[in-house]
Amino acid sequence: MRHVKNLKCTLCGAEYAPDEVEYVCPKHGNEGILDVQYDYGQIGGPFSREEIEESKDYSIWRYKRLLPVEPDSPVPPLQIGWTPLYPAPRLAEKLGLHHLWVKDDGRQPTASFKDRASAIAVVKAREVGAEVITTASTGNAAAALSGLCASVDQPNVIFVPASAPEAKVAQLLVFGSTVLLVEGTYGDAFDLCTEAAHEYGWYNRNTGYNPYMTEGKKTAAYEICEQLNWEAPDRIFVSVGDGCIIGGLHKGLKDLLALQWIDKMPKLMGVQAEGSSPLYQAWKDGVDPAEMARIEVHTIADSISAGLPRDRVKAMRAVRETDGAYIAVSDEEILRAMPALARGCGVFAEPAAAAAYAGLVKAVEQRQIDPGERIVVLTTGSGLKDIRSAMKSVGEPHRVAPTLNAVKEALGSNLAR
Ligand SMILES: *Cc1c(COP(=O)(O)O)cnc(C)c1O
Ligand SMILES: [Zn+2]
Repeated sequence: MRHVKNLKCTLCGAEYAPDEVEYVCPKHGNEGILDVQYDYGQIGGPFSREEIEESKDYSIWRYKRLLPVEPDSPVPPLQIGWTPLYPAPRLAEKLGLHHLWVKDDGRQPTASFKDRASAIAVVKAREVGAEVITTASTGNAAAALSGLCASVDQPNVIFVPASAPEAKVAQLLVFGSTVLLVEGTYGDAFDLCTEAAHEYGWYNRNTGYNPYMTEGKKTAAYEICEQLNWEAPDRIFVSVGDGCIIGGLHKGLKDLLALQWIDKMPKLMGVQAEGSSPLYQAWKDGVDPAEMARIEVHTIADSISAGLPRDRVKAMRAVRETDGAYIAVSDEEILRAMPALARGCGVFAEPAAAAAYAGLVKAVEQRQIDPGERIVVLTTGSGLKDIRSAMKSVGEPHRVAPTLNAVKEALGSNLAR
């Protein structure tokens, strides 16, 4: 990986060669999350936007030279990335905005954004010859790793909290992972997974631990900018749990600025659920993310439920350095956002993903947005991931006897809506 300069500790700034450390800065244990640093000269050289645009590879691998993998490493066959960026004029009009797009990462192979990171995990694990890959997850990262492993016949062990939505657990079992339902929180599952990885020598994909996961997530920023003809948007709204996605978007945008492929940094808008909003609180109170303490959390948006966000240092930088903001939305606002988003542009999002749209609605209400700004909402997971919450967000369907009269009675003078 000639283009990877080093791995830099987000806490102390110490720099390591990629083969010098395994995952984290040895001086800080599990908290010493590393940032992959590139030699942009090595990437940029003969490599241009035009070359990318000519690529017929409509997946994250069209950007392979900007990713921390060996150029000749084989990649899994599933089609990861290049998800659609839909213009959403009806939603825009409702909010009094002129330019709004929704990027639908519910369209990934395992139906969430996490496929972007798990794809990198599978490639990296095979580069080091790991026999088993493991991860802890609230559900989506697990499903993503599980599906990607299935695509290349790679053994894997998954730790999820026993409370994970059924659809996500079903994915793990159908893909054939070894599944451990942990009787505890995501934090408990994370610690247990990391301990087991040490004990058994498994490759550890954990978010906010393995420095390469952010690098997979940054591809969404590349895609957004390329899909907008390299005219970066003014703001990107994204939901935040551990903070790895927002950190990844920030990284991708910094790459593009360094390569001079875009000419401004979009403001990153991190949306948290009120019942799990430690980054929002710390941002509002000016707290150093390194000083944050674990809090009790509870929200319907299971994928962004994190009492002490693993990637809090990168996540706080993403918002502070881009002049963005953190926003907290209630579960009720999230539940309202699900049908509003689905009906306004045809994208069915799980609660954590709809939260990003709820955050935009709130930011507009609070007059944080200029109507002329170009706004992207990133929806990170499919609504089919959590049907129970989806049903909670809408009314009951009409129940009718199989007769036309019953239909007329049910519909009255209204259209079925
Ligand atoms: C993981 C996830 C998030 C949040 O990502 P973080 O990196 O934990 O902040 C948001 N939405 C969905 C659907 C997710 O699966
Ligand atoms: Zn360090």
